Amino acid sequence: MVAAARSRPTDTAWRLRLARREASGLPEIWALLDRLTDPEIPAVSLWDLGILRDLAWRDGRLIVTITPTYCGCPAMSEIEADIRATLEQAGYGPVEIETELKPAWSTDELSPEAREALRGYGIAPPCIGSALTEKPQCPRCGSGQTHPLAEFGSTACKALWQCDECHEAFDYFKPI
Ligand SMILES: [Zn+2]
Repeated sequence: MVAAARSRPTDTAWRLRLARREASGLPEIWALLDRLTDPEIPAVSLWDLGILRDLAWRDGRLIVTITPTYCGCPAMSEIEADIRATLEQAGYGPVEIETELKPAWSTDELSPEAREALRGYGIAPPCIGSALTEKPQCPRCGSGQTHPLAEFGSTACKALWQCDECHEAFDYFKPI
């Protein structure tokens, strides 16, 4: 049963996010924002990480809806400045940025591309769904035989794990 759950993850949160993007009907503006990456994880775009939630025109102004990731995200002001600069340079200003706190950001919102990029960095992506008790796969060899070493890794958002097969120690992006 556990194996079946793993092979068919519940990626509902990600699909809902994608549907909201498509419903906004502003593909050329989304394409501009797709170039912006997270200052702390430069391989992952703000969109892939789940920080960007929606775009809309309201009373002649472009409204960008964002949500912070966990840990209070110290980079949020830098991220807002990047969004504003990118859109205003392209002639879409003045831009308003609204922060949406409900529903709270969850690691289930990461795009498949974000998960792949984390693996490329040697970081095990978070398990999908209420999988707090599931073991992450080793990002180096793919083994599911892993064990925790420490509750915190290189940042508070990650835990330190080790692979039983290749013995590599790796960061695990904790699911929330
Ligand atoms: Zn391994």
